[in-house]
Amino acid sequence: MHDIELIRVLYAEVGRQQNTINLIASENYASLAVLQACSSVLSNKYSEGYPGKRYYAGNKYADEAENLAITRAKKLFKVDHANVQPHAGSPANMAAYFALLKKGDKILSMDLAHGGHLTHGSKVNFSGKLWRIVHYGVSKETGKINMNSVRRIALKERPKLIVAGATAYPRAIDFKSFGNIAKEVGAYLLTDIAHIAGLIVGGQHQSPAPYADVITTTTHKTLRGPRGAMIMCKREHAKAIDKAVFPGIQGGPLDNIIAAKAVALFEASQPEFKEYSEQIVKNAKALADNLIKNGFSLVSGGTDNHLILVDLSNKGLTGKEASIALEKAGIIVNMNMVPYDTRTPFNPSGIRLGTPALTTRGFKEEDMSLVGDLISLAIENWQDGSHLQRIEGEVRKICKEHPLYPQLGRHGI
Ligand SMILES: *Cc1c(COP(=O)(O)O)cnc(C)c1O
Repeated sequence: MHDIELIRVLYAEVGRQQNTINLIASENYASLAVLQACSSVLSNKYSEGYPGKRYYAGNKYADEAENLAITRAKKLFKVDHANVQPHAGSPANMAAYFALLKKGDKILSMDLAHGGHLTHGSKVNFSGKLWRIVHYGVSKETGKINMNSVRRIALKERPKLIVAGATAYPRAIDFKSFGNIAKEVGAYLLTDIAHIAGLIVGGQHQSPAPYADVITTTTHKTLRGPRGAMIMCKREHAKAIDKAVFPGIQGGPLDNIIAAKAVALFEASQPEFKEYSEQIVKNAKALADNLIKNGFSLVSGGTDNHLILVDLSNKGLTGKEASIALEKAGIIVNMNMVPYDTRTPFNPSGIRLGTPALTTRGFKEEDMSLVGDLISLAIENWQDGSHLQRIEGEVRKICKEHPLYPQLGRHGI
């Protein structure tokens, strides 16, 4: 018996991933070893609790997998403690807040409209409903975070927690200065490295480990592991963090995903991963240079990391129109608000582009210039369906030269 209907969907998705240029900054292609661990028999196990202290029997190997992930995370990120059970980045942040705060405490975080994440206090998110939120943002002139103004706001507002981290910020984050400010005002520092974890491991971004009380991260973005998250922290917060994850907000951990996290952390500790993360940044800079040459306006004028925020106001179309046209040309991006945007999140002025996924496929700087030219062509001709179709043909050719999983040949799933 085969579920032909779903098999068809999965094969079609393989084809879509193989034949499109993926510039979604939060996506990546996990290795086959990671995918295999995700679909392993550990999916069948229940193991509420932590290694050595489970509520169910039969956890000898679930314990071994989780201990591997924990040991590797601690070594790789140079932290005292790691909890590898959070199902995703949002519950990881929720658990961190519950561990550090009482209801109604004040959080200082980056404004969503300036690049922060929903879980950093958006009104429509649990974080904005349970805690009092004040925001810092980027300066209008530079598009960058100004640490003096963060300090001023922190001194005035006296938050219990400062969150440093973002989801659409193309520049390096000064975790050390955030740490100093947190100390000065008596706040905890939570650094959310969901996007940049792989760059930190690869030495392409300052590590928050010496300064942060708690570090949350997803495992599927630049870190290139399975869909999931981790929380790392100083020894003094270890108990509170573990209790907040289980039994605080989650039940049984996803042991298969934890095994896949262990695999990804092993891969991230190899020398090739450092080269990979260097190439991510080189590729982002090459794409940024090309887009500037093609007359695009980039928030903050460029990038230090894996992502680029393009303000399309001067191009006569919205981010939504651009992302729809680009998809017709086989180029996948997401629409995004730009700082001080006058439009709405459903039809914002910008698009966000990231290089982690293409870099995994072996794209180099020259390839990124070509991608930039194709983006430019598609946007100049965004209302011309047949032009977009011709570009899509080019995209297919480029994609063929960069197979998704070369080990599997042309038809691999
Ligand atoms: C992606 C992201 C998250 C949330 O991750 P999910 O796994 O989608 O819940 C949290 N914080 C930041 C900064 C992110 O970029």
